Order: sequence, then C-alpha cells, then structure tokens
Amino acid sequence: MTAGTGAPAPARIDLHTHSTASDGTLTPGELMAAASGAGLDVVALTDHDTTAGWAAAATARPAGLTLVRGAEISCRWYGPDTAIPLHLLAYLFDPTDRALAAELARVRVAREARGERIVELLRADGVDITWDEVRGYAAGGTVGRPHIATALIRTGLVATTSEAFEPRWLGERYRLPKDDIDVFTAVRLVREAGGVPVFAHPRATRRGRIVPDELIVELAAAGLFGLEADHTDHSPAERAHVRALAAELGLVVTGSSDFHGSHKMVRIGAHTTAPDAYERIVSAARGVPPVG
Ligand code: AMP
Ligand code: ZN
Ligand code: FE
Ligand code: FE
Repeated sequence: MTAGTGAPAPARIDLHTHSTASDGTLTPGELMAAASGAGLDVVALTDHDTTAGWAAAATARPAGLTLVRGAEISCRWYGPDTAIPLHLLAYLFDPTDRALAAELARVRVAREARGERIVELLRADGVDITWDEVRGYAAGGTVGRPHIATALIRTGLVATTSEAFEPRWLGERYRLPKDDIDVFTAVRLVREAGGVPVFAHPRATRRGRIVPDELIVELAAAGLFGLEADHTDHSPAERAHVRALAAELGLVVTGSSDFHGSHKMVRIGAHTTAPDAYERIVSAARGVPPVG
C-alpha cells in the first residue's frame, strides 16, 4: 500500500502451487485458506499432471480470492543427443479435452511405474521402505519423489525432504527418468485445449540440467506463452536472463512460490506475478475461466 496516494495496492498473484492432489502437503481446501491468509488476490493450483484438485479448490475458495485452475506438466525435450526433463505450467485449459487428459493420465501411470522401480532399487540396497507405504503417502494423488522422501524420513535415514534429494539419494543415485510428454506435443495439446503454457523455472540449474535458449526460441514459435522468472530455484542472474529472453521473444514473465506445504521451505506468495502479465494470460485462455 502506498500511503497517502489513495491508489489501491497492486493485486498479489501467485501462479504456481501444489496440493495433496500431487506432492503438496495441504489439501486443495487448506491451500485456498493459506493463499487467502497470506493476502493473495489470485492463486493458481498447478498440481503435477492432474486436475484432480480443481473441484475441491473451487468449492473451498474464500470470497475475495480468485482461483486459476492449472497443472504442471512433466515434459521432456528430446534433443539431438540428450533428453532433458522440464516442467510446463498450463493455465485455464479445458480439463475434458480428450487428448490432453489422456496424456496426463499416461504420465501419472508412468510415475507409478518409475516410483515402484525407485523403491525396488532402494530395497535392494537394504532400505526398509515399501511401495505400498509410498502410495499411502500420495493418498490417491499424483505420486512423486517427495512421497518416497517421506518414506526415507520415516526410516530415519534422512531428516528432511531436501536431504532426501541429495545426490546420494533421490537427487542422483536413486533417480530414474519418467516417461514424460514430449515438450512440443505438450505445448500443442495445452493450446488445443484452450490453455496457456508457461515454462516453469527454465534456468533452475540447481535442479539439474537445463535446456538451451535455442529450444526456448523454438518453443515460443510453437506456442509457448510465457517464462517463469521469479522462482526460488533461480539466482538473481538467472532471473535477469529469463526476463531478457522473454522480452526478446515477446513472452509473458511470471513469478510464483511453487509452494509445496511442508515438503519445501518456501512460503506461499513468496514470489508473485505482475497484474498485466496475469491479464495477458487470462485474455489468451479459451478453456475455463478463473473462478471468482
Ligand atoms: P518428481 O516429479 O517425482 O520427479 O519429483 C520432483 C518434485 O520433487 C518437485 O516438484 C519438487 O516438489 C520436489 N523436489 C525436487 N527437488 C527437491 C529438493 N531439492 N528439495 C525438496 N523437494 C524437491
Ligand atoms: Zn512438486
Ligand atoms: Fe516444477
Ligand atoms: Fe511445481
């Protein structure tokens, strides 16, 4: 709030959060309450590869909070001699679009197969966890490595989720690839479902390998709408680089918390998106409207 000018404070907009429908620790309803409590005006629910939390979030949405229904899609770039995983945020798409829904369902199944294989590798090395236990932590939501991390914490072998993601555990030694969606296919499917695709944390080198800028140029030509710049996993230099690239390509810039409840340290609303960028996303969407 700017004292004395009478101008309203700009809306606070967080376009990337996770609930128990994937690997967050708050239910969609609790997440809406947390968003409102943090003073947000707009929050996007972007669970991994699922829209399962949309209805509960919409029902629980407090007055004064706008809900943007979305997802974070597990993609892969199949480059000339490497395959690099990446995350695509998709906003306001039609959840009944057959082609997109089928791909999301396929990835969820692939996640189960991969999770089970990771558990087998850990068990072969004497780690006393089971696939049933891990599935229990996911409780019907999209299974991810954070659920395996929870099992590792239960054994006492690691103390925190971040420790479970160290290279000697799920970060490298027990990391297996998933059967993700080709990123060009994903951009096309999201657009065909009336959604707006935004590349999540594109320069987050601390999470692993990143794709070259040339790929982002090609994705922009293929229908990518925006780049997430302000994210906890981006250094100040990485944020500046993403902003410059977005300006060059005419892409929207977003910022978000990528809140996961107690699976990550970041607070909801820790990073936000400018109102004009949000308006551009809403104007481009043809699938479902924001709620509220
Ligand atoms: P998956 O989708 O199964 O490959 O797991 C990736 C998820 O693990 C991300 O969406 C984060 O929620 C979480 N994650 C990745 N790296 C870390 C980390 N270093 N500390 C805590 N959580 C992490
Ligand atoms: Zn996650
Ligand atoms: Fe992500
Ligand atoms: Fe995320």
